Amino acid sequence: MKVIEHYNKATEPLISFEIIPPKRGGSVQSVFDSLDKVVETVKPPFIDVTYHTAEAHIEELPDGTLRRVVRRKRPGTIGLCAAIKHRYDIDPVPHLICEGFSKEESEDALIELNYLGIHNVLAIRGDNTGSQISLNLNGTENKYAVDLVKQIQNMNQGIYLEDIINAEPTDFCVGVAGYPEKHFEAPNLDWDIKNLKRKVDAGADYIVTQMFYDNKAYFNFVERCKNHGIDVPIVPGLKILTTSRHLKTLPKFFHLNIPDEFTAAVDSDPDNARNIGIEWARQQSLELMESGVPGIHYYIMGDPQPALDVITFLQKK
Ligand code: FAD
Repeated sequence: MKVIEHYNKATEPLISFEIIPPKRGGSVQSVFDSLDKVVETVKPPFIDVTYHTAEAHIEELPDGTLRRVVRRKRPGTIGLCAAIKHRYDIDPVPHLICEGFSKEESEDALIELNYLGIHNVLAIRGDNTGSQISLNLNGTENKYAVDLVKQIQNMNQGIYLEDIINAEPTDFCVGVAGYPEKHFEAPNLDWDIKNLKRKVDAGADYIVTQMFYDNKAYFNFVERCKNHGIDVPIVPGLKILTTSRHLKTLPKFFHLNIPDEFTAAVDSDPDNARNIGIEWARQQSLELMESGVPGIHYYIMGDPQPALDVITFLQKK
């Protein structure tokens, strides 16, 4: 089923999860071990799997010659999605990124997904970390997520990159990212929301937000999106803080604020950060649920237990 159909049919907020593929050479069993636990506690309607950009660098061989090496640290998103569908009968949502992909490669990935019967995609720009500059795409890539959304919607109408007579239309449901505290490159929230509206106008069916720790940021964002005419579901994304190091790393990598009260609690008892983080997420989740959100999307990466502790608490309420 498509993600948007899950939301449209739901009678209560949906719980979904996001995982990352293992590092190259890692074991798929580690993913199954963590998802087995998730499915035992709550059978989610869908599970997202992130995509990771390839990085290019120059390597010197022992004889002094140089060679260009392109390597993806976490490959396997599409394969992992097929494995999730097969093992759990749950709809997988692969993320597709613009960064490091030519439009032809994006089209090929979408054809692959279509053949696998995977009809959900989260269309994301990705970030240029600097090392992708030498991937030699020469402008053949989608620049922004909106361009990828347009490409997918074209394929949904049977329009491929080259003219193909009687091309089979695909049937993808498309999600996109939104930022309650604005995207870090945007000069202000309204400017960012205007670009979000472009993604919705191009055919995005729903929005998943970046993680946040203050529900006021989410409520304000939803309100302002509505004022801009955005009427698709806006699903809050939550990541549970589990170590005092997160006080620095989360703002650094995800450009978000952590409220004073929460920071002070973790600072005063750093060894207990995991429990404090779980309790904060319980209260955040409860308030979001009571406000009538379409669902909550938990970023669990490799460790589902903190999110499961939150969900068990919600189930008792
Ligand atoms: P865009 O929507 O393209 O926006 C990027 C910036 O450009 C924004 O500031 C926006 O306002 C601006 N902008 C957009 N359109 C235009 C335009 N036409 N003209 C001028 N400016 C414009 N990263 C990964 O590498 N892999 C993942 O799997 C992944 N999954 C994610 C899932 C979620 C739910 C979220 C919130 C983020 C995810 N990311 C992932 C991170 C993401 O790649 C970064 O946040 C990235 O910097 C922006 O991606 P985007 O799709 O929001 O970009």
